[in-house]
Order: sequence, then C-alpha cells, then structure tokens
Amino acid sequence: MLGRSHITTGCATGGVVLAGTTGLGYWLVPGFTGLGAGPWISGLILAAGASLLPDLDTTESTAYHAVGPATARLGNGCQRLSRRVYVATAGPADSPRPRVHRGLLHTPTFAGLVGVLCALAVLVTPWTVAPLLFLCGVLTLKGLHRSLPSEWIRAMYPLRSLREVFQWFYAAGVTAALLGFGSIDRADGIYLGLCLAVGMVTHDLGDACTNSAVPMTWPKQRDGKRWTCSGLPPALRFSTGEDSLVEAGVRRVSLTVAVLLIAGTAVLPPAWPLLVDWLGTS
Ligand SMILES: [Zn+2]
Repeated sequence: MLGRSHITTGCATGGVVLAGTTGLGYWLVPGFTGLGAGPWISGLILAAGASLLPDLDTTESTAYHAVGPATARLGNGCQRLSRRVYVATAGPADSPRPRVHRGLLHTPTFAGLVGVLCALAVLVTPWTVAPLLFLCGVLTLKGLHRSLPSEWIRAMYPLRSLREVFQWFYAAGVTAALLGFGSIDRADGIYLGLCLAVGMVTHDLGDACTNSAVPMTWPKQRDGKRWTCSGLPPALRFSTGEDSLVEAGVRRVSLTVAVLLIAGTAVLPPAWPLLVDWLGTS
C-alpha cells in the first residue's frame, strides 16, 4: 500500500490500542482517570510512525529517506539484516535468491521483537526511546501530509521549501517536551512497546491485503518454505496505487475511525464520573 494509506491505518489501530487500554484501565484499575499525556501522545506517535517502518527495507520508501543519511544508513543496515536472516532461515523449497523487500521487516514476528526491545529500553530509561519517538514523529507528519486538508498543511509549513526542516523541528520539539518534562515513565514501557509493534503489524496486514502479500507466518515452515507470502485469499486482494479505489476507501474509513477513537478517549476521562453517576441514578 501507499505510505499515506499505511499511516491512516496505523493511526486507526493506534486509536484502538489507546481506547482499549483506557477502557481496560477504567474496568480493572480502581481510581483510574485515563492515560497520562505522555503515554497518550507518544503511544499514538509510535503506532502511527511505526506503520511506515517496515518499508525501511526498500530505498523507494518514505521511511528510507525520512531523515536523510541517518535513515538511509539505518535502512541499509535493515536490508543487510533482512538478507542474512533470509539466507539463514530459508527452507529447502524457498527461492535461493534472498528477498530483502517484504522480507524480515514485513513479518509480525519481527514487529513483536522490536516491540519487546522498545519496552525493555523504556524500562531502563525513557530517554532511550528518544530517537525512535523523533523518527516516528517525522514519519507521522510525512505520512499524514497528503491525508489532511490542504489548509492545515499550509498552516503547518509557512515556507514550503523548508517543509522537511519544519517536520524535523516539530518532531524534535514534541520528543524533547515529552521527555524533558518527564511525561513518560519507566512503567509506560510495555504500553509503548505494544503501540510500536501494533503499528508495524498494521503495515504487514495492509500489505497482506494487496496482490504482493507478505511472509506473515515466518518463521513457521510449511511445505519446505518459510518465506511464502500469504494474506487475504487471492480473489479478495487489491492492487495498490494512486488510482486504487479500494485503497482510497481504506484510507478514508481508517482516518475516520482514528479521529473518532482518539477524540473519544480524549473526551471520556472528564465525562466518566458524570456517566457513572448518571448510570447509577437511572
Ligand atoms: Zn510494505
């Protein structure tokens, strides 16, 4: 799928995790008053931005070029890793030619591992997540660029030629504010790792609905293959691109779901005691 479709689906699943965690908190934790601003904002940024991260395995992606040479080097490292893991784990019936794009980085197993590493890193100190928050912030801005109304975009970037610099500046500002004011706690690690993994898996699922599909079941071996691409039944898969009506529909629906869920969890905490009172008296 296109980057801007991945980002809207990432925002939607980030909204699902946010709403689900908030709902569980009210249900299970006495005195819960909603997630704090730190995990609320950073969880959404990580889920949305991570929905572009698997495409670091191709030089043609937004993620590869997001922060100039820094993400290009990261992408090259990811491609080397993807190639080595393909060669090391290929089954006897897999192609001898390693698949780098839509390989390791497009597997839910890899997304889970990255999520666990992120959670452990935050448990050590929240500052370890700074580069990741910055990168996901830049990716979120880049991804949403073509999905938001043009007036908003004009207001966000006063100088069009410096759009990229503004994106880096905004992402760095939000990262510094969240960490500098201590809004993220060590205890938020599991939640943030979950958001990151969910964002990456959302990307995998999105690609699994397209004609190319992805190796969803790696490292499980089936019929001598570990790198078989799987996804929706072939008849239900759609082609991706600017002129794909299905992809445009996915984009609109997921952005609407994201806005409803995110706005709902923002409004619910202050309204919750009133709702409980009303339910108790009616
Ligand atoms: Zn992809």
